[in-house]
Amino acid sequence: MLYARLTNEWYARDISKKRRISNKIKGNAGEPMGPPPFGYEKDPSNPKHWIIDEPAAAVVRRIYRMNLDGMGVEQIADALSKDGILTPLFYWEAKGIRRPGKGAKYGPCHWNSSTVSKILSLQEYCGDILNFKTYSKSYKNKRRIENDRENWVIFKDVHEAIIPRQMWEAVQESRGRTRKRRTHEGERNIFSGLLVCADCGNNLHFHFNQGNPEIKYFNCSNYKGNRGTCNSTHYIRADFLEQVVLSEIRRLTRFVSQYEQEFSELMMGYTQQAMADEQRAIKRELDSLLVRDRELDSLFEHIYEDNVNGKLSDDRFSRMSAKYEEEQAELRKKIKSLQDNMDKSKSKASTAEIFMSAVRKYTRARKLTPRMLNELIQKIEVHQAEKIDGVWVQKITIHYNCIGVIALPSDLALPTPDITVNTRKGVYVTYMPDTKAV
Ligand SMILES: [Zn+2]
Repeated sequence: MLYARLTNEWYARDISKKRRISNKIKGNAGEPMGPPPFGYEKDPSNPKHWIIDEPAAAVVRRIYRMNLDGMGVEQIADALSKDGILTPLFYWEAKGIRRPGKGAKYGPCHWNSSTVSKILSLQEYCGDILNFKTYSKSYKNKRRIENDRENWVIFKDVHEAIIPRQMWEAVQESRGRTRKRRTHEGERNIFSGLLVCADCGNNLHFHFNQGNPEIKYFNCSNYKGNRGTCNSTHYIRADFLEQVVLSEIRRLTRFVSQYEQEFSELMMGYTQQAMADEQRAIKRELDSLLVRDRELDSLFEHIYEDNVNGKLSDDRFSRMSAKYEEEQAELRKKIKSLQDNMDKSKSKASTAEIFMSAVRKYTRARKLTPRMLNELIQKIEVHQAEKIDGVWVQKITIHYNCIGVIALPSDLALPTPDITVNTRKGVYVTYMPDTKAV
């Protein structure tokens, strides 16, 4: 029974894998992967080619014109509904084409704003084919997931355009502007994905203040108040963070250029220390595994002798030896991977060099850029602000790429950041850098 189910599953997975591969080849060759959008139909002489479906295309053109005349998606939907224009779903149905979709419960001429919005966004109307816009996780879970734009494969001018490219672009531009003004959610910030909560380890999420969109902030995505388990919000304003991180990077670049020797030593210290710690930990684990490995050898010898001497039955011997062999095979796999790790850890020393040359590139940086953050920073831990001697202080731990956390010596003449931001409710939060005396 179980076996039958498993083979069925394998079979299904196999078929779906083949289908996926063939889809991938077709998609990369520029064949449309989905059905044509409203306004196009399959060419009867070549189903891989789309031709203009004139009555529907006329509606698409009208929608674009109305939008360029300044009408919003809701107004456009109302106008089409009032004029008794068939919605795409009902239009296709009238032509005898079956398409999945909701909307059957509304009237045949009930346009909604999301349909209009979708039509206004499709680049296919310029004549292009866009493949891999969505994907499904597995053959079992058919739900389509939006693919990142960078993974799309686009073929230009494959079929006849319904909307001239310039006109389409003008619509995208004006819609982009109006949309941005309306909703701020979903927009990204240069720190998105880099910030983690120092207490629970979850990512911090980017938000806008509802009342004042100029105020952008992050807080813990796992905060208790929002159905999570973290005790504090870990609220931090994006502008405060920008100043802090920029000043820390500038301190670091200043340090690198003014105190090259010290930096080199500090880095060596860091990497050597880290390397030594890591090697020691690996060695400890490896030793204990090797001990167990020898133990198993002697246990095996023991039961073998017992078996030969008749103290242990053949049946028990074979069961016990199978058990030992299994454990030993598992053990040897672990030993092998630890030995590999040991070699990898030894090659880490040169990463300090890589990091130093990355830092030098930003010696004159006046502004944070996404590229700079990516090159230098692995993640930033945000701590909850605390009241120290009557002043709210917030700690931030920057984990740099290659080297991790670095505390600059406090006795060198480096600019000390003096960053205070008026955050919520008139509370001033100050940042204090980590330093260490050498
Ligand atoms: Zn948290």
